Amino acid sequence: MADCLLAAGFELAQHNEKADILVVNTCSFIASARKESDAAIREACAMKKKGLYLAVIVTGCLPQRYFDRIQRQYPNVDAFLGIDALDRVASTARRLISTEKARPLVDIPPKPDRIIERHVAGVVFSTGAYAYLKIADGCKRRCAFCTIPQIRGPHRSRSHSSLLSEAEELINRGFRELTLVSQDVTSFGHDRGEVHALEKLLRSLDSLDGDFWVRVMYAHPGGVTTRLLETMASLKHVVRYLDVPIQHADAKVLARMGRGNTFKDVVSLPDRARQVMPDIVLRTTCLVGHPGEDKRAFNTLLEFVTAARFDHLGVFVYSPEEGTLSASQPDRPRAEIAAERRNQLLAVQTRIMREKQQALLNSKGVVLLERQEKRRRWTWMGRSYREAPEVDGAVLVNNVDKVAHIGDFVKVRYTGFKGCDMIAQAIDKGD
Ligand code: SF4
Repeated sequence: MADCLLAAGFELAQHNEKADILVVNTCSFIASARKESDAAIREACAMKKKGLYLAVIVTGCLPQRYFDRIQRQYPNVDAFLGIDALDRVASTARRLISTEKARPLVDIPPKPDRIIERHVAGVVFSTGAYAYLKIADGCKRRCAFCTIPQIRGPHRSRSHSSLLSEAEELINRGFRELTLVSQDVTSFGHDRGEVHALEKLLRSLDSLDGDFWVRVMYAHPGGVTTRLLETMASLKHVVRYLDVPIQHADAKVLARMGRGNTFKDVVSLPDRARQVMPDIVLRTTCLVGHPGEDKRAFNTLLEFVTAARFDHLGVFVYSPEEGTLSASQPDRPRAEIAAERRNQLLAVQTRIMREKQQALLNSKGVVLLERQEKRRRWTWMGRSYREAPEVDGAVLVNNVDKVAHIGDFVKVRYTGFKGCDMIAQAIDKGD
């Protein structure tokens, strides 16, 4: 949307207060995300009432899913754009400026099925040395608890060529990590009938010139094949890191979640991945409190997580969503039991993380510098291949050369840890 606005001659304001038009891009995946979106729309409308803005445009998943409700709730909003209309934001803004005609303008195609391509890397909102490369949108899977396929529509992949040209430009602009994302990266290309398209994309990205990392996030366990793991292992730019949300490890709960066919893939994942890449870093997320998760099922998950020793693990408490199969299922654990289970899993993971941090001490690694710390001269925050941006903690590096820049790769020796972060000393190249 930022690219479209720029191309149409608009400028992006550095602060909300300096803007004429405010675009509120929303999420409506779960209740807490909707709450945040609602708060942002309320704030925008209140500021418009005070005369700060000419117009407020609300875009994305909330109007896509709940247009009737939010139209009634926010009569001050000037335009609503659905998922497939995001690249019409500039023409919408233009119409708002040039006409006093009846508001709101509404452009919400009911069933999203477009893929909005991006052949040049435009505005990048991430800070640091990484940029997200969104390779597809929507989802072909039907997990019983999830609203994403209903909101964002069927899975559709971007073209190989647009991804490559965007990646090349990002690298030329100095980004040192391309983080591949979509609702399920392992489905890439399947909508076009292509097989092994993700492997092909990784090989193409790997062949680009430059010093950079490629990181793969959101891999569905059913799509993590030995072939994919072997491809990753063979490529020099693709880091040995994989994010695979397993959700659960009990066969019956996985079946209730609509992910029953992934049971074998889930329980075999850590061994399969480490056999191909012994140094692979595995991240996962689990969902506790889903209908059908009794004490025995939860213990199965707890034992699995204890034995699997994931490097990073996030835990969500199930939230029933209107229009999903899970919401109508019986035997849902009480909220306090679900919260307690989340705490139990996190306690186990904290112990595993400490042991892993301890084991790293005195070993060497490579860190991508991302932010110079102001309070302590020559101290930098960075990430090694072990940490994905925004979710996994960081590496605090001391003793960095005075002339270092964001995006430099430095060799380090690990000297300590603090919370989720590692502490390290930069060392000479020859060390
Ligand atoms: S794979 Fe992910 S996005 Fe797709 S339906 Fe399942 S949970 Fe939702």
